[in-house]
Amino acid sequence: MSFHSHEQNGLVYLTSDALSGVRHGFSTRQGGVSAPPWDTLNLGVGRGDALASVQENYRRFCAAVDMDARSCVLSKQVHEDKIRLVTPEDRGKGLWRDRDYTSVDGMICQTPDLPLVVFGADCNVILLYDGVQGAIGAVHAGWRGTALGIVKKAVEAMEREFGCEGGDIHAAIGPSIGACCFETDGDVPHALYEALGEDAAPFITWDGWKYHADLKAINALWLRQCGVTEIDVCPLCTSCRTDLFWSHRKTGGNRGAQVAMISL
Ligand SMILES: [Zn+2]
Repeated sequence: MSFHSHEQNGLVYLTSDALSGVRHGFSTRQGGVSAPPWDTLNLGVGRGDALASVQENYRRFCAAVDMDARSCVLSKQVHEDKIRLVTPEDRGKGLWRDRDYTSVDGMICQTPDLPLVVFGADCNVILLYDGVQGAIGAVHAGWRGTALGIVKKAVEAMEREFGCEGGDIHAAIGPSIGACCFETDGDVPHALYEALGEDAAPFITWDGWKYHADLKAINALWLRQCGVTEIDVCPLCTSCRTDLFWSHRKTGGNRGAQVAMISL
């Protein structure tokens, strides 16, 4: 399994073999209309970019991945572990009308044509698909969400709400900061060891000055613990590849955001 890059009228996005059979895409910063520092395909709302530009970027990206921009449901990410069961009443929330939720780092859904959108600019963005029950999920996991096991909680919510089984769920972990660039102090390893015990050890290293944590590998570990076996991990690092992605760390927060989007 691997990720593939696509280009359409200058707009570049990625797809994953693990999610063949369901519409999805991981955006890059290329192919939109926004001015610096949101240049150009900024899909993040409330980052200082003009809303009209962001909406036009959604139209372009949704055209590329064959979804309806008017129907997108946006997360409200606060580095917690709440999972929202998205219904047709949520259509358009976050982009065309207000979100009436304040903490949504993960979403699950069984409704056709209701695209789920999570944001990243170093954090993990993870898409889930169960072709047996016809169900999807989208998760944002920075180091706090990773330590909270939010992706495991999303799988459990799909099992509880939709009757999914972990073994039927396919997962794709999109572009995000790699262990190469994710330097931390002791707080991150401490939280990861608290959550996972010695299972976290292979994914945390010490370079003599800082710790490095491989959050993509740790989220893959959470998924395996749920019985998920089809897991595609994007090797691209958002901090190494600033030509393709925004990195929160590299930009100091003065940036746009890329998304992971999925729709039945
Ligand atoms: Zn890197």
